Amino acid sequence: MKRFWPLPLDLRALILLFVLLSVLATLCNNFIVAYRIQRDALIHTTLESNSAYAAKVASSIEAFIESAQGRMKFSAQVLAAHWSEPEVLRAEASRLQQQDTDFNAVAITDGDGRVLQTAPEALKAEESMLDSENMRQALKEHRALVSAAYTSVSGHLVIFISQPIVSSSGQFLGVIGGSIYLLQQSALHSVISRHFHHEGTFVFVTDGNRRLLYHPTPQRIGAILGSDKPVDAALRGENGAMVVTGEEGEPLLAGYAPVVDAHWAVVAVQPEERALAPLTPLMSHIIMGMIPAGIVGLGLILACTVLIARPLRQLSNAATQLTAPETESRLQRVQGWYLEAAAIRRALLGGVKLVQQKLGRLNQEARSDALTGLANRRAMDDMLDMLTQAELPYAVLSLDIDHFKRVNDTFGHDAGDVALKHIADILQSNSRSSDLACRSGGEEFVLIMPDTSIAIAQTIAERIRENVAGSDIPGVGKLTLSVGVAFREEAPTCDGLLKLADERLYLAKQGGRNRVVAS
Ligand code: GH3
Ligand code: MG
Ligand code: MG
Repeated sequence: MKRFWPLPLDLRALILLFVLLSVLATLCNNFIVAYRIQRDALIHTTLESNSAYAAKVASSIEAFIESAQGRMKFSAQVLAAHWSEPEVLRAEASRLQQQDTDFNAVAITDGDGRVLQTAPEALKAEESMLDSENMRQALKEHRALVSAAYTSVSGHLVIFISQPIVSSSGQFLGVIGGSIYLLQQSALHSVISRHFHHEGTFVFVTDGNRRLLYHPTPQRIGAILGSDKPVDAALRGENGAMVVTGEEGEPLLAGYAPVVDAHWAVVAVQPEERALAPLTPLMSHIIMGMIPAGIVGLGLILACTVLIARPLRQLSNAATQLTAPETESRLQRVQGWYLEAAAIRRALLGGVKLVQQKLGRLNQEARSDALTGLANRRAMDDMLDMLTQAELPYAVLSLDIDHFKRVNDTFGHDAGDVALKHIADILQSNSRSSDLACRSGGEEFVLIMPDTSIAIAQTIAERIRENVAGSDIPGVGKLTLSVGVAFREEAPTCDGLLKLADERLYLAKQGGRNRVVAS
């Protein structure tokens, strides 16, 4: 059979280990779930707020453009009414450019695109405006326009906002337009950047060609973006949010919104890492919150483990010492408070009784003679040792059946055994509980009598002899025995004393048998 080696762990350690593992697993699981929920919530909230942020910036830009267009429309009406008066044209252009800081430059052209007036007057803005696709479009379409960004002849990156000048009779007279420099601090910059910026969020604006009109890094203004999903979505007129990957592969949370009239895109971006920054203190908060309950829980687990393991440990200790005399009382004291412990306790108690009975029996067998049930030589030696050590007075009788050989020869060995048992019974019934009757050899016996004077010992010897001689042994008939008696004081050692008793027995045999010799 394969030998099974148990773990060097007791039940308490095992329960504790398993409970701790499962508690740990549960806590980890809870923690991970809480982390995921919080993380998703944070990302969701950030996307929403970035989307709202983009929409807000977009609507501010729309309002800015609308108000610029409104003012320009008013000027267009004034100019239409005084079209032939150059003074009015100059005054209106400079009023528009100086009064509002919205426009870096203002120009008025006639219906063919010829520049009639600029503000500031020194500026060659007219050339740049004339040159542009936007001016051509304005001259052709006769409607309010907001251009895409372009680089003017004077080298500025600009956008251009224009209004047609139409006479009261409906005749197209010309165009009034204003340009906004994108690379300098402009009114548009202030509109975009005046919004609240939360943690690492930045906003950028592109025109319909994905050219950057505004970016917190000024060097990037004017650059054309590659494919950019939020920009594309905003240019399709959509307002929303999405997770995108940044230039260095980092995840970004982007909200986007369109500036519909100008066909621009506004994108508000926050690196996911920044959006998730509150997660660390939040999670450590959760862990701190778990600690007190965790400690109480562990304490309870420890107490329960001790309570569960205690009876089994006590039972297992008792089980290793089933033969010890105090084991039964130890088992009685074990509190088997649950089914298994109670059952094992019951079984062990039964086992202890059986083992101790069996031990008692084995002891008895080791110390007694199988045929007669009297004590054997070993028990006799122990008794003599004990009496010698305790220095107690005692008498010894040495007994031998007379002519026993003949019994065997005449009636057979079995009949001889019956006779031996019969005589052993007589010996037993004539001795006190403190005496020890032994079968010291074949048909020889010794009776040790503690605290007995030689006279009493002699009397008892005589009584035994009479009883044997007087009884009828079944299948054998009458038998006699001879007895030698010796007293403790008569010899220095117990061996000497036994020898003396044997010598007196020999004397009894010589004296004709069936007699007692005590001196
Ligand atoms: P005496 O003692 O009177 O001198 O004569 P005896 O015949 O008894 O002589 P001895 O002591 O020499 O003989 C002992 C006999 O006891 C020898 C043996 O046959 C017999 N014997 C010894 N042990 C047993 C036993 O266990 N059972 C039986 N049936 N006989 C035994
Ligand atoms: Mg003999
Ligand atoms: Mg004999």
